[in-house]
Amino acid sequence: MRRALILLSVLALLGGPGLVAQAPPPAAKEAPVDCIFCRIVAGKAPSKKVYEDQYVLAFWDIRPRAKVHLLVIPKQHVASLKELDELPVETRAALLSACVRVAKDQGILDKGFRVITNAGKDASQSVFHLHFHVVGGEQLREDAITKDPTPQP
Ligand code: 5GP
Ligand code: ZN
Repeated sequence: MRRALILLSVLALLGGPGLVAQAPPPAAKEAPVDCIFCRIVAGKAPSKKVYEDQYVLAFWDIRPRAKVHLLVIPKQHVASLKELDELPVETRAALLSACVRVAKDQGILDKGFRVITNAGKDASQSVFHLHFHVVGGEQLREDAITKDPTPQP
């Protein structure tokens, strides 16, 4: 009996199959120290928060380009929508739910709002921590999808 117990302990120390808890899911990548949105999540940079849960944070854009202009971000750092698969599925769901929730809280759900995410250079992404812009509160331009119109002669 004693020998069996010793064997179990040794196997457990070695991470033997079936004896210890499953390996944890791959750890989240370390957040870059210079990421402004990570600093906001950590409370090291100020923000006008409107919503927070265990997965996401929502706050006012520092340079609002509509009457309502909020940013919804995952607390875990990923650079853009291109890295969405690196986030746990709960966080992915929480991001979209939070977009609707903050729109509702701001009273812009019924009249309409827009959710945008810029991913990469061609989309003019400037902060490389995934974020969704939630904008509304007034009539928005019909087309926020294409490049700036070429000036007519
Ligand atoms: P992007 O161009 O990457 O899609 O959007 C980045 C957004 O982040 C911009 O709308 C910009 O105004 C906003 N932003 C940049 N730095 C800060 C900041 O320190 N605080 C807040 N609240 N917004 C920021
Ligand atoms: Zn970050």
